[in-house]
Amino acid sequence: MAAPGKVAAFSLPPLPTVGEIIKLFRLKARKQLSQNFLLDLRLTDKIVRQAGELKNAHVCEVGPGPGGITRSILSAGVEQLLLIEKDTRFIPGLKMLSEAAPGKVRIVHGDILTYKMEKAFPGHLRKNWEEEPPDIHIIGNLPFSVSTPLIIKWLENVSKKDGPFIYGRTQMTLTFQKEVAERLTANPGGKQRSRLSIMAQHLCTVENCFVIPGEAFVPVPEVDVAVVHFTPLVQPKIEQPFKLVEKVVQSVFQFRRKYCFRGIATLFPESGRLKRTEQLMMTANVDPTLRPFQLSMSQFRNLCNTYRKMCDEDPSLFVYNYREELRLKKKMGNLLKNTSQPEQS
Ligand code: SAM
Repeated sequence: MAAPGKVAAFSLPPLPTVGEIIKLFRLKARKQLSQNFLLDLRLTDKIVRQAGELKNAHVCEVGPGPGGITRSILSAGVEQLLLIEKDTRFIPGLKMLSEAAPGKVRIVHGDILTYKMEKAFPGHLRKNWEEEPPDIHIIGNLPFSVSTPLIIKWLENVSKKDGPFIYGRTQMTLTFQKEVAERLTANPGGKQRSRLSIMAQHLCTVENCFVIPGEAFVPVPEVDVAVVHFTPLVQPKIEQPFKLVEKVVQSVFQFRRKYCFRGIATLFPESGRLKRTEQLMMTANVDPTLRPFQLSMSQFRNLCNTYRKMCDEDPSLFVYNYREELRLKKKMGNLLKNTSQPEQS
């Protein structure tokens, strides 16, 4: 767990409030972009404290918007702050903040989903993976439609040690819809245990820090929000390629309420499915009558390791796609049905 950091290590000169910036630049939140702003600086300070000690750190904030969290990050006394914002309307307000902290802020008008993080920070900050995390942090309050695909992308980066993790075990403090945060941190047997739990927890220490009630945002979203902190693990709990783990985990959770063998069976083509499913479950030592959400991380590890061996023996296995097989079968069925219709005279 990251030790909570201090905020207010650096004093910004007097500035218009975030609310005044919103009025000044007419920054009405765009519903279609799921923009919900945090104006309460005590809350933005609390988010930033979850990142840990930020004095002299290098930080990337994703989606700064009108700049509430940005102010808290600057007040923490960071060395450099990189802001990545997709909506041009926010750039003038962010420039005003940048002038208040000369030489510290770099503003990029861009999309975090495509921005190349490999070059975002100076090379001298790099640490070996086994060392303590580098003095680099990613912080952001993003729309939910962006934060889930983004964390999947960044988890794949963790597994490959590329993207923002080229610098070592870069820590992230991000907001999610409360239910998604619960899924990210759920333990075996928990109601929210899901694909996201395994994908995140096999690569990172994941901590659900605190909940922000929806009413704290302007405009008020329909859901509550939670702040989640990620620190990549030195040793992943499953040491297999990300795509292989993702395929096994997705298959297991395909039928959430059924016995886990139902989902696991979808890893194999129809011919020989039963035999191979039994072989996988026996070698991995997993009780086929457990439900997907009851499986522990070590059971997922055994399943992934055994499936990997089976794929090495039969390389056609990994490219097999159950859903594609179903789709083709349906298409063939329809074709046969249409061609066997008697012609109308
Ligand atoms: N951080 C601000 C706050 O807490 O008040 C704004 C939060 S608002 C929920 C999300 C912000 O992310 C908006 O400013 C939006 O324009 C920006 N954003 C949305 N998608 C983005 C993307 N793909 N890349 C960068 N910024 C994005």
